[in-house]
Amino acid sequence: MTETRNTVILGSGCAGLTAALYTARAGLKPLVLEGHEPGGQLSITTLVENFPGWPDGIQGPELIENIKKQAARFGAEYDHGHLVSVELGAHPIRLHTGHGEIAARTLIIASGASARWLGLPSEQALIGHGVSSCATCDGFFFREKEIAVVGGGDSAMEEAIFLTRFASKVTVLHRRDAFRASKIMLERAMAHPKIELRTNTVVEEVLGVEEKEVRGLRLRDVTSGQRSELAVSGMFLGIGHEPNAKMFAGQIDRDDEGYIKTTNHVFCTRHGEIVPGVFACGDVQDRRYRQAITAAGSGCMAALEAEKYLEEHGR
Ligand code: NAP
Repeated sequence: MTETRNTVILGSGCAGLTAALYTARAGLKPLVLEGHEPGGQLSITTLVENFPGWPDGIQGPELIENIKKQAARFGAEYDHGHLVSVELGAHPIRLHTGHGEIAARTLIIASGASARWLGLPSEQALIGHGVSSCATCDGFFFREKEIAVVGGGDSAMEEAIFLTRFASKVTVLHRRDAFRASKIMLERAMAHPKIELRTNTVVEEVLGVEEKEVRGLRLRDVTSGQRSELAVSGMFLGIGHEPNAKMFAGQIDRDDEGYIKTTNHVFCTRHGEIVPGVFACGDVQDRRYRQAITAAGSGCMAALEAEKYLEEHGR
């Protein structure tokens, strides 16, 4: 017979691991399904300088490993599996993983959001070595350097404007001639003396794979077909994020971009009604802040609500 767990946590980024720490300390012996991207977005970041408590910063993967160990010390368990399908309406909740079936009294969804990448092999090879999807995390390393931001939406404009604090010049590369960004953001970017906007331009290759650091970009003008090189030390992607919540379609409410809609911070709903025992935290339900510390904070809230729910339902 399938064992029923008090709490199963989906995702092992900052939100999921913080939820694991809190539920473990409450004696709930949580099981964390680590998912496709163990450690979440922090595991592909380098130095994290804005997580309180680390005056000299800490490497993203080390921070994740620390929280993981901290939760394990209190009894959290980890499984490499990922979710294939789920029955949220069942009591207990039924989770089908690559390894079998798990029953859970409470479920904390912390499956995160994955940054969109261009998908070029050279881009993938240089993630963490000049290629980044997080200006707030990595902008600091580009003091007085020239960098590029890819994208034509609000994120790209916001990243470009933020990066002017550090970079000597920021070139925004957009694949079309019309921008998706809001008027105000676009005007701010256009008015900034350090920002140049280039339209109808796609990145074909990130240069510097052999040197293990970004040296430039090979670009193509999509109207003329002309190729050129842009000497930059960094490339930031601002082409959006994808919340990892497709597997909950039809079972909990999501917004038009697929982010989980929560009420009272972490409660999941279906047609506006609370789904008992199901909570969401971190980037899968946060399209606005997307910081390690806010993910950790909401992981804590989800854990406290799961604990309360179990108490009220005579765990
Ligand atoms: P977005 O609005 O979907 O824009 C993504 C941009 O990336 C688009 O310009 C798109 O080009 C481009 N893009 C997508 N895939 C690409 C690819 N493979 N290669 C090259 N370019 C690609 O995403 P977002 O900017 O992250 O914004 C998401 C939501 O958050 C929006 O509702 C936005 O308003 C909001 N937001 C608001 C603020 C703010 O107000 N401060 C800041 C950030 C985000 P196309 O235009 O050609 O499709």
